[in-house]
Amino acid sequence: MRIGIIGAGQLGQMLGFAARDLDAECCFLDPSVAPPAAECGEVIQRPFDDADALARMADSCDVITYEFENVPVAALLQIAGRVPVYPPPDALRLAQDRLHEKRLFDELDIPLPRYHAIDSRDDMGAAAAKLGLPMVVKTRRLGYDGKGQFVVKMKEDVSAAWNTLGSQPLIAEQWVPFDFEVSTIGVRDTAGDTRVYPLTRNVHEHGILRTSCSPVDDAALSRKASDYVHRLLEHLDYVGVLALELFVKGEDLLANEIAPRVHNSGHWTIEGAATSQFENHLRAVTGLPLGATGSRGHAGMINLIGEIPDAARGLEHGELHDYGKEPRPGRKLGHITVVADTAAERDELVGQISRTVT
Ligand code: AMP
Repeated sequence: MRIGIIGAGQLGQMLGFAARDLDAECCFLDPSVAPPAAECGEVIQRPFDDADALARMADSCDVITYEFENVPVAALLQIAGRVPVYPPPDALRLAQDRLHEKRLFDELDIPLPRYHAIDSRDDMGAAAAKLGLPMVVKTRRLGYDGKGQFVVKMKEDVSAAWNTLGSQPLIAEQWVPFDFEVSTIGVRDTAGDTRVYPLTRNVHEHGILRTSCSPVDDAALSRKASDYVHRLLEHLDYVGVLALELFVKGEDLLANEIAPRVHNSGHWTIEGAATSQFENHLRAVTGLPLGATGSRGHAGMINLIGEIPDAARGLEHGELHDYGKEPRPGRKLGHITVVADTAAERDELVGQISRTVT
């Protein structure tokens, strides 16, 4: 089995490690020089929409998947008739546009923050009147890790937000004073078999994920989140791993966004679940039966952003994953996972390690 993976970053690298355990070979497409996944297989160093490179992958691989969400959909459609492409390009198309994503949540009765599409400066005023302030203005496309966002706190900020972001289609969202954030990761195979990982609690700083802890000890929230991800997987006739990020406010869950790929908030599954999200994604797209998604303890994950300090190495409790990337401010360079017997022990370790590495 040879698996073509578009993108060769750390998610590609972790998919590559999982592929080794399944005795599958990987071939990556990525324009970067020496990307993290290079140690896991051939990298075709061409742009993501390079027709020749895509054709080469389609001809030499049994299935094509992708590890980041800004893959041009047209590139996938170019090869979709020649080789299976999972997750389905239609799911990617929806996930690439925040407005389409929100309409999908509406259609599936998944609660979400109030929103307003913005195509003109006048729409900004209408959004502020409808949603109240503060509101968050986001680019509809190509935003990640909090980039392409502007929090409008006062009326006077409206112009600044428009001047900063207004050259592209935007969406405004009601500001949610959430209690905390969670994500739920589901996986569905070609036969429609579906599994969901235990709910994960996430902490972001400046829009970038800092820590994830799972499971969340709340049966009602877990049931709701699992129900929402099931609806999405079924509706999209999805194959592979899908992540759904949500805000928790009291007993309510509000959907923020989906990622049609393996997700940073699921890295804990490598050590902390019966089957990792990476292995299950590959199982789903290659037609193998899915593995169990239950926890193997109380897991926590700490992202290493900007640098990997010496203190992160050789920890007594904590597995370091170093992606081998050049340090740069704001860049995800690695992560540490801990698995403990109790949630209290896990939280203590996550706190301790976070203080050591930041
Ligand atoms: P996003 O790129 O949409 O996932 O946003 C990144 C992070 O910004 C989220 O994980 C939240 O911490 C915060 N954020 C985004 N949208 C909102 C919102 N409507 N209300 C409050 N916080 C938000």
